[in-house]
Amino acid sequence: MVDPETILAALNDEQRAAAQAVSGPVAILAGAGTGKTRVISHRAAYAAATGAIDPKRALIVTFTEKAATEMRHRLAALGLPQVQASTFHAAARRQLAYHWPLLHGRELPDVLDSKLRIIGPMARALPGGYRFTPAKDLADEIEWAKVRRMNPDTYVPHGDPPVPVDVFTALWRRYEQGKARAGRIDFEDMLTLAVELYETDADARALVHRRYAWFSVDEYQDTNRLQEDLLQLWLGDRRDLCVVGDPDQTIYSFTGATSEYLETFAQRYADARVVRLSRNYRSSPQVLELANRLIPGRELRADGATEGPGPELRSHPDGEAERTAIVATIRTLIDGGVPATEIAILVRTNAQLVDFESALTAAEIPFTVRGVRFFARPEVRSARSALRTTDASERLTRAVAARWRSELGFDESDPPGPASGAEARDRHAALATLLGMARSLEAERPDVTVADFTSELERRDAAEAEAAGDGVTLSTLHRAKGLEWDAVFLPQLEEGTLPIRQASDPTALAEERRLLYVGITRARRHLALSWALSRSGSRGPARTQPSRFLGELRPGAATREARPKFRKEPVTFELSDADEPLLEKLIAWRRERARADVVPAYVVADNKTLAAIAARRPTDEDGLLAVPGIGQRKVATYGPEILEIVRAG
Ligand code: ATP
Ligand code: MG
Repeated sequence: MVDPETILAALNDEQRAAAQAVSGPVAILAGAGTGKTRVISHRAAYAAATGAIDPKRALIVTFTEKAATEMRHRLAALGLPQVQASTFHAAARRQLAYHWPLLHGRELPDVLDSKLRIIGPMARALPGGYRFTPAKDLADEIEWAKVRRMNPDTYVPHGDPPVPVDVFTALWRRYEQGKARAGRIDFEDMLTLAVELYETDADARALVHRRYAWFSVDEYQDTNRLQEDLLQLWLGDRRDLCVVGDPDQTIYSFTGATSEYLETFAQRYADARVVRLSRNYRSSPQVLELANRLIPGRELRADGATEGPGPELRSHPDGEAERTAIVATIRTLIDGGVPATEIAILVRTNAQLVDFESALTAAEIPFTVRGVRFFARPEVRSARSALRTTDASERLTRAVAARWRSELGFDESDPPGPASGAEARDRHAALATLLGMARSLEAERPDVTVADFTSELERRDAAEAEAAGDGVTLSTLHRAKGLEWDAVFLPQLEEGTLPIRQASDPTALAEERRLLYVGITRARRHLALSWALSRSGSRGPARTQPSRFLGELRPGAATREARPKFRKEPVTFELSDADEPLLEKLIAWRRERARADVVPAYVVADNKTLAAIAARRPTDEDGLLAVPGIGQRKVATYGPEILEIVRAG
C-alpha cells in the first residue's frame, strides 16, 4: 500500500482537502479538467492507507465501462486492486446474478443486445403512417420512460411523443411481453429489478449493506432517477457517499438524466461537505479562455502551466476542403512528434465520422472509432442488404433512394423531428451519408450501376475495418466525456449540426452548448474549430450557417447579451414611462433565467417582446399569447413566471 503522504503529495490543496474528507456526505463540484476523477482514486487510496475504510467494501461508480477499467488501473497503481470500480449497470447485474437463482430457481436472464430486434417488427405493424416511425424512436421513448420509473400505465410523455400515447403504450406492453417470451431482460430492467429487489427484500438489502459501505460516483451530473434510487438503496441510512460532477457538462439529459441530483445534494444532505476545485490541470490558458467564453460565470483557470497556441477558428469553402485541411494538420502534428493516439476528431453525430474515416484511410493515418464504426452500424448493414434486389434499370441514386424508401421507410428530405431520439437522427444521417456516396459516384460516372455501388461500399468497409486500430480517435462528443487529448478537432460547427437541427427549445439548445463545451475542454494544447460555408445535401451543394456559438467564441466577440446581430431590429412599441420599472424587472428576470438555463438572453425573450409585455400587462396565458414574439412554447416554458412578475407589478 502507498503511504498516505505520498498520495496527498500528488494533489493540490483543494484536492487534498477533498481527499482527506474520508467520511460523511461529500460533493465535489468542479469544472472540466480540475482533477475530479483523480481525486476519486486518491481519496479512496488515502482512506484505505489511513485505515479509515476497508477497501474491499468501497464501490466507485463510473459512467462507462472504459472509465471503470481506467479507474481500476489507477487504483491498482495506488496499491488498491481490491476496490470495486464499475458502472451502475454492471454492479446491478452482478448483484442480481447472485440473488436470482436463490429467488427464482434459475439463472438471471441474458440482456437483450438491442430492443430493436423486438420493436422493429412491432413498429412496422403499426397502423397507417405510424409504421414508418423509426423503431429506434420508440425504443428511445421506452428507455426514457423506464429510467423515469414509468410503466405503460403511468406513462406521461415529454415533448411530442413519436406516436399517440395510446398507440405507444400498447406497443410498449407488447414489447414487454415479447421480451419475456424471448427470456430476456433489457438494459433498464437491470436497474429496475435491482431497485425492486432492494425495495422489497430486507435480506438482500442487508447483504448489500454488509458488502459495500463506502461509495463514490463520478460524472454524477448525468444520473437518472433509476440510478439515483439504486444508489440510495445501496446506501441505506448510512452517509459515506461522495458525488463528483460538473453541471456544465450535463450532456445526457435527452436520455432522462438530470443534474438536479448533483445540484440539490447539499440540500438533501445538510451536513454535506461541498468541495470546489478551481485549477484546471488539463488545458492551456488559451483553450480555457475559449471555454470560458462559451459558459461564462464559472471561469476555468489554468494552473499557471504551459501556454499553448491560440485555438484556431476557421471556415472552409466546403466539407471536403475542411477534411483535407484537418488531415493535413494532423499529418503536421504527427510529423512534429504528437502521437496519433493523442489526437481526436470529435463530432456531433455518428454519421459525420464516416467521411473522416475515409479521409484518414486515404492519408494512411491510423485511427480508432470510439463506438461503432460506420459500416458496422445496423442501419448501414440493412441498407446494404436492401440493395441486393434493387432495380438496375434506373439511375443509381434514384434507384437506391426508391429502394430505401420502400424497404426502410427512409426519406432523405424528411429528417426526424425535434422529439425523436439521437439514434433516430443518427440513423437518418447515416442513410443520407450512404446516399451521398451514391450521388458523388454518379456525378463522376453517370452510367454507374448498383453493382458498382455495392462493390464500392464493400471496398470502403474493408478499408475502414483495416485502418481501425491504435491511432487518431474518432468519436462523438457524447463518448468523449471525461477523456483528454493533446490535439482536438471540432469540425462542422454549423447550424443544424451543432446545435443539431432538432434542438429548438432553450433546454435542448443549452444541452448543445454544453456538448460544445465538453468538446473544447477535452483539448490540452491544440484546438481547432471549423465549419464549411457549403455542404452537399440532397439537392446538391447548399449554403450553411456557421453555428450560433461561434459568434461568441471569436476573439473580440462581446458578451452574449450584446451581440449586435440581435440588436438591429428597430424597437417599436407603445411604452410609457410608467412601464419602465416593470420592464426593468422583466429584464432582470430574463438575465436570471438565461443564466439558469445557460442560454443567451435573447433565447428567453428579446427586448421588443419584453417591452410589449410591460406595455400590455397581460393577465393570463391568452393575453400573453397575443404578445408578438410569444408562442405556445414560450407560454409553456416561461408563462407562469412572466405572469407572476406582471401581477406583482
Ligand atoms: P472532467 O470534468 O473532464 O472529467 P476531471 O475534473 O475529472 O475532468 P481529471 O481527468 O481528473 O479531471 O484531471 C485532468 C487532468 O489533470 C488529468 O490528466 C490529471 O492527471 C491532471 N491533474 C489533475 N490534478 C492534478 C495535480 N494536482 N497535479 C498534476 N496533474 C493533475
Ligand atoms: Mg473526470
